[in-house]
Amino acid sequence: MSDTNIRDRNGDSAVERVDVLVVGMGFAGMYNLYCARQRGLTARAFEAGSDVGGTWYWNRYPGCRVDVDSVQYCYNFSDELTNEWRWSERFASQPELLRYCNYVADKFDLRRDAKFDTRVISALFDEETNLWTVRTDKGDVVSAPYCIMATGSLSTPYKPPYPGIEDFGGEWHHTGTWPHEEVSFTGKRVGIIGTGSTGIQAIPVIAREAAHLTVFQRTPQYTTPARNRPMTSGEQEAFNARRDQWRKEVKQTFNAITDFSPPTKFFHENTPEERRTYLESRWEIGGMPQALMETYKNIGVDEAANSVVADFVRDKIREIVKDSEVAERLCPPSDLPIGSKRPPIDTDYYETFNRDNVTLVDIKTSPIERITAVGIKTADEDYELDAIIFATGFDAMTGSLLAIDIRTSGGASLKDAWSDGPDAYLGLMVAGLPNLFLINGPGSPSVKANMVIAIEHHTDWIMEALDHLREHGLDRIEANEQAQSNWVEHAREVAEATLMPVADSWYVGANVPGKKRVYMPYFGGFARYLKTCEEIVADGYRGFQLSRTGENADTSIVAAQ
Ligand code: NAP
Repeated sequence: MSDTNIRDRNGDSAVERVDVLVVGMGFAGMYNLYCARQRGLTARAFEAGSDVGGTWYWNRYPGCRVDVDSVQYCYNFSDELTNEWRWSERFASQPELLRYCNYVADKFDLRRDAKFDTRVISALFDEETNLWTVRTDKGDVVSAPYCIMATGSLSTPYKPPYPGIEDFGGEWHHTGTWPHEEVSFTGKRVGIIGTGSTGIQAIPVIAREAAHLTVFQRTPQYTTPARNRPMTSGEQEAFNARRDQWRKEVKQTFNAITDFSPPTKFFHENTPEERRTYLESRWEIGGMPQALMETYKNIGVDEAANSVVADFVRDKIREIVKDSEVAERLCPPSDLPIGSKRPPIDTDYYETFNRDNVTLVDIKTSPIERITAVGIKTADEDYELDAIIFATGFDAMTGSLLAIDIRTSGGASLKDAWSDGPDAYLGLMVAGLPNLFLINGPGSPSVKANMVIAIEHHTDWIMEALDHLREHGLDRIEANEQAQSNWVEHAREVAEATLMPVADSWYVGANVPGKKRVYMPYFGGFARYLKTCEEIVADGYRGFQLSRTGENADTSIVAAQ
């Protein structure tokens, strides 16, 4: 394999040539780089941020932390790493997660092959030479036979285009591009737009600092207490002692998280009193969203079962929030199934609305009309603010990929391929775009799973595919159009059999005006997905076409559909 500098086909610029291109240096990019190197492949990674960390590099807003147990939300590929690192809290904060990413980058010397502060703007596949050539905003031109898009599922911030932002005299920030220097809200009147997982984490923290916090809420959320706490003495050692077993167990789960056993009962098998006691116990345990979602069978499918749990949370809101009008405004509507938007976990979210310095504004009934020089104007009122925070989410799952001009010399492009929705075979590859791999792409469990575990699975699958190609003297892999359609149809059926696509969530792209409504993550479960991926490989990469450059399909090895 080569890493020399060559001229591109036009002969007009020096092109760095490596074996594998990696776009992004978050959890996914770092692991891909590590794995490529382990195989003796040369690799080049590009990252728009100034350093490693991805999500945990960009999202520095107050209160930001993971919502999967830290001991489960970390790499598994190195026992040495696992044994060296100690988490201080059950749900690590963003600074601790970023320290972890830096530790990994240092330990494995990953920055050596990465270029930071550099955004990939295009990726062109040459059908004749079998090379992807990426170009960056800094003028880099690098070619490789394989290109891995480790661009993150939630990495393109979405900010509603309210008119007037340029007139605003105060400061404003999006949570997904938070400044590196400390932002002080002391003595300030702060407005925050958005009450998703991010807003729900930030609101209680900012409310404690700001003179006044006005929360602009479009859709109320169901949230469960995180019950975050310091790790207890010996807790991580005990987890690590059974990590090998855990690695096996996690592959049998629905979302790549263990420790919540699947529900055993239907809700109607309990009396209302028994239900209350049971749900109360789960609320007390708190923690991951599964605390409430994995209580009774069929919660994600059956409206009656779902509303039992949804009503329980509404009762909790009414119990916690002293002002009954505010409590009602915080109650999610009856047509919003619990779990159909990503269920957040919180620390003192509902309690925060009992503070004298917090105001809740319903922007569903009184929408924001514009940003003014001094604050926010809704249909009914003007709010004077010193700072505005946009906790308004992301152009999820497709935004960062479509921001890159991805095309082939044969005329295919990602933009065209996804004009009617983000079709991808297993969420790993897109028909028509050979040798281009997606990490946690649409149609994979991705955001419905523990992301780090899903990243490790995807990366291992890709690396084994590259091994397979090399062992068979091949250099090209491409998803088959028909196999892709079958997978997309299967993923659609699985999702539509549930209540999940009902909500106007980012899962379906509803938060970004004009985005095609498709339930993007695979909701068939992590275990089932893994099994499918394994079977496809065992079946000779069923649904993929494997070939050698310069040979036509007749002489190539073509996997069955
Ligand atoms: P989000 O879930 O999409 O929430 C965005 C919020 O902004 C929603 O309340 C939304 O209201 C509101 N909003 C969006 N566009 C708006 C508009 N035009 N006008 C008024 N309000 C608008 O985004 P997020 O909170 O940043 O979370 C995104 C995902 O990141 C999460 O679901 C989760 O997967 C991940 N995340 C994870 C963690 C964690 O691990 N702890 C923390 C934060 C985020 P509507 O609901 O009405 O659309």
